[in-house]
Amino acid sequence: MKIRAAVLEEFGQPLVVQEVDIAPPKAGEVLVKLKACGVCHTDLYTASGADPSGYAPCVLGHEGAGVVEEIGAGVTSLAVGDHVVTLFSPECGECVNCRSGKTNICTAIREQQGQGYMPDGTSRLSRDGQKLRHFMGTSTFAEYTVMPEIALAKINKEANLESVCLLACGATTGIAAALWKADVEAGSSVAVFGAGMVGLGAVAGAKLKGAERIFVVDPSAERLELAKRWGATDLIQPKDGNAVEAILEATGGLGADYTFEATGLVSVMGQAVEAARLGWGLCTVLGVAGRGEKLEIIPRYLITGRTVQGGSFGGAKGRTHVPQLVEMYMRGELDLDGFVSHRIRLDEVNKGFDLMHAQDGIRSVITF
Ligand SMILES: [Zn+2]
Ligand SMILES: [Zn+2]
Repeated sequence: MKIRAAVLEEFGQPLVVQEVDIAPPKAGEVLVKLKACGVCHTDLYTASGADPSGYAPCVLGHEGAGVVEEIGAGVTSLAVGDHVVTLFSPECGECVNCRSGKTNICTAIREQQGQGYMPDGTSRLSRDGQKLRHFMGTSTFAEYTVMPEIALAKINKEANLESVCLLACGATTGIAAALWKADVEAGSSVAVFGAGMVGLGAVAGAKLKGAERIFVVDPSAERLELAKRWGATDLIQPKDGNAVEAILEATGGLGADYTFEATGLVSVMGQAVEAARLGWGLCTVLGVAGRGEKLEIIPRYLITGRTVQGGSFGGAKGRTHVPQLVEMYMRGELDLDGFVSHRIRLDEVNKGFDLMHAQDGIRSVITF
């Protein structure tokens, strides 16, 4: 089948929206008609060539939501017409990691996915007979995608796909980190570093759990103002790039019960550790740092009771947690609509990158 897709042809160059071929789903795979897809920083990072594990040509995109169009042999948990959110982080439920109950890092298809292929080691995407690789197992900057069944979360059909597509990556990362990974306690104090979508998701999650004070740290006054919408109570524009002192001062010199880092900057990760409370402060690192960068922690911070953890996708198990978050959205508990700042067409995908560079808005969503 011929579809339109945004192809990363060459690193550092704009994506090229063009017609490509997509093969039908094989066993255990599903063809999804995309309805919406967020433009995430990871797409931009890979397109720029900065990601050392990146490859081209491939079809980018990983924050998608759509409708099941066709299922391959042996697919039992999804049917034609089901609404789904795509998962770059699958949940097979059977591998050692899935069965452990201790992690969301499923190993079932990790190796092939990392190289841009379906679990059987081949690609469903091509152009003029020449193979194109998949990206993050998702390739959702396209009218259709073929994905493994275990990498699709079945969700409520009533949900607005233009908003819940954000649960495919950024929004879930922040929200799940606060709800489940850190399991924020009611009445506690929380400090969130970075007011992009991941950080704002953590704010929303902390608010849902009943946090009493939610500090948000960001250099942009505009973004800080926005953070109030999700529950920020204290806005901090860091002096000389450091917010630790301001947080300590506001918490009687102790620090926040929970801190979340959502910037990808190791210097900020260090601040998130130092701003966590003496005795029991829990620091959750969510940003992806550059290759080779190191986080330095003075051991005294650990000895005196602080814990540091991290979580890809906020520690969320996609097929379990994403449908739950969709229900919270449907009940009006999660404001996902507010994250969508721009709606663009697939042909305008590079504009989505430009808006991100300019820090204009929170999220651009491609609608199909
Ligand atoms: Zn992402
Ligand atoms: Zn698994």
